[in-house]
Amino acid sequence: MRYHQAVHDVSMLFEDCDKPPTEDSFDNTVGGRLPDTVLRKALDLPDLQERDVVKHFINLSQMNFGVDNGLYPLGSCTMKYNPKICDEIASWSSVGDIHPLQDPSTIQGALRLMYELEGFLCEIGGVDAVTLQPAAGAHGEFTGIHLVKAYHDSKGEKRREVIVPDTAHGTNPASAAMVGYDVLELPSKDGCVDVEALRSAVSKDTAAFMLTNPNTLGIFEKDVKEIAGVLHDAGALLYYDGANLNAIMGKTSPGKMDFDIVHFNLHKTFATPHGGGGPGAGPVGVKKKLEELLPVPRIAFKDGIYSLDYDRPKSIGKVRAFFGNYAVLVRAYVYIRMQGGKGLVSVSENAVLNSNYVKERLKEDFELPFQDLRKHEFVLSGRPLKAKGVRTLDFAKRLLDYGFHAPTIYFPLIVDEAIMIEPTETESKVTLDAFVDACKAIIKEDPAILKTAPHNTARKRLDEAKAARDMIFSWREYEKKLGQRSNSA
Ligand SMILES: *Cc1c(COP(=O)(O)O)cnc(C)c1O
Repeated sequence: MRYHQAVHDVSMLFEDCDKPPTEDSFDNTVGGRLPDTVLRKALDLPDLQERDVVKHFINLSQMNFGVDNGLYPLGSCTMKYNPKICDEIASWSSVGDIHPLQDPSTIQGALRLMYELEGFLCEIGGVDAVTLQPAAGAHGEFTGIHLVKAYHDSKGEKRREVIVPDTAHGTNPASAAMVGYDVLELPSKDGCVDVEALRSAVSKDTAAFMLTNPNTLGIFEKDVKEIAGVLHDAGALLYYDGANLNAIMGKTSPGKMDFDIVHFNLHKTFATPHGGGGPGAGPVGVKKKLEELLPVPRIAFKDGIYSLDYDRPKSIGKVRAFFGNYAVLVRAYVYIRMQGGKGLVSVSENAVLNSNYVKERLKEDFELPFQDLRKHEFVLSGRPLKAKGVRTLDFAKRLLDYGFHAPTIYFPLIVDEAIMIEPTETESKVTLDAFVDACKAIIKEDPAILKTAPHNTARKRLDEAKAARDMIFSWREYEKKLGQRSNSA
């Protein structure tokens, strides 16, 4: 094992700065155009040289793990390598220096890009119309379930229930509940939707069924057409959680599978950077019967001119300021144009091939629940390790010592000691083999080493819950908390 993460003695930039911000460090050239009452004299930022800022962030990045420095098989998250050309084009001034309040006549290029991206997503998703506004997959679900509600409202129907399978991502029930629906969880059978159980669960109270296909076990729900029939016969809608779209591009589409509403995670399938809560994009596509309900404005194209259409009386309104996360949309557009239709097909083919390759090499060492072929990801059970007193968490932590990001663990909930591996299409056979070899080596190691791992990283075993329970988002907040603590001491 040759991996060792760098350890730097980094302090906060605010602490490194010996020169407080001064009035003349702030460029006041815009002052002529802004009234004095709204003009700040100085920004409360540390006054540092570029050199020190770059050093700070490079050092921090070396104490971290990302898609640029190794395999990141975090199942369900599609942490593929993001081509740099997408970032480069997103940094062009024609992208960054335009303002969403400019007159549409002055941003024709941007409107065209978004209009064409909507068209590409319609084709990939097999849907009739797409909105680009939602900022994430979960936000797409929230938007989509609002569309469900508006659809039933428009028919004068009050349906109270959204059904989700027990393999669903936690955002599915959360989104349905946020829109005000009761959530009914459907137990699976052999890792798939139990169609008979669904049939008895569906009623005139069912508003929608939310499904991921391939599901979170990486198994393709082959009964999907029958499932769609059950929902549609009852007057309900079928919602596609598009997080796993990387497995099926050009092979089939949610539209072909009879889904009514689809969200796309551009930051997963379409290679825009994600993680750490940064900007993403969760466009939503719909079949014709739901198009009039989509958020405003819609981008329209007529007589060679792009414009914004707000005159949509049935629209659910706005779900996001302006057009959504535009720079993310630009990256996804570049990625799709660069791949082309054939490229996207081979993305999915290679994602599925890589996943099955790793699965075949690892299934004897762990336990593979449900003996089916997998799509772009697969879920193992770490149950055999339990006999040695080793948990999936310990195994995942030890992988960090070998220079690999950990897989998703303990999800989906229906697999005991779940280890969810998504290698993605961007990894070479050499990398996949090195990962498999590391997994095989780890399970032969002394359990004591695993239980105290990681050892080769900048930080050791962290309190997993602290950051979520004791949230400190800024330096100012941190100082305030320190002050409170010393006052109360
Ligand atoms: C990632 C994911 C989501 C949520 O998407 P975000 O963009 O993270 O909000 C929903 N469902 C599944 C299956 C996912 O993997």
